[in-house]
Parts: sequence; structure tokens; C-alpha cells
Amino acid sequence: MRVEVDRDRCEGNAVCVGIAPDLFELDDDDYAVVKADPVPPEQEALAEQSIAECPRAALIRHD
Ligand code: SF4
Repeated sequence: MRVEVDRDRCEGNAVCVGIAPDLFELDDDDYAVVKADPVPPEQEALAEQSIAECPRAALIRHD
């Protein structure tokens, strides 16, 4: 799977970074960026949790 960040929706609250620090980080403009593309299989559960818990629904899953 891959995860895309919708920068029009992301507000940089770092919820995703807190859940999956190996997958997400904030860039200098406080937008989330995906560090692992594609997502390693052992990180997929954390990716799915991040997608579900992003308060802005800014994370998009691509299979
Ligand atoms: S949880 Fe969502 S809104 Fe917050 S930084 Fe991550 S992608 Fe952006």
C-alpha cells in the first residue's frame, strides 16, 4: 500500500507522526510527508490507524 497526504486538508497537528513516526514526519511548512513509499508490510497497520485517526481526513490510501 501507499499513503498520500492531501496538503489542502493537512493542518500539521502531527497526529499521524505520533502514531507512526517511521512513516510520517512534518516538513518545514508543517505539512505531513510520507517517509516510506511504499509502506513496508509491517507498518501497514500503523498506516491504517493513522488514516483512520487523522482529524482532517488528509491521508489517502492507495493499494
Ligand atoms: S494527522 Fe492528518 S492533519 Fe495531522 S499532520 Fe497528519 S496528515 Fe496532517
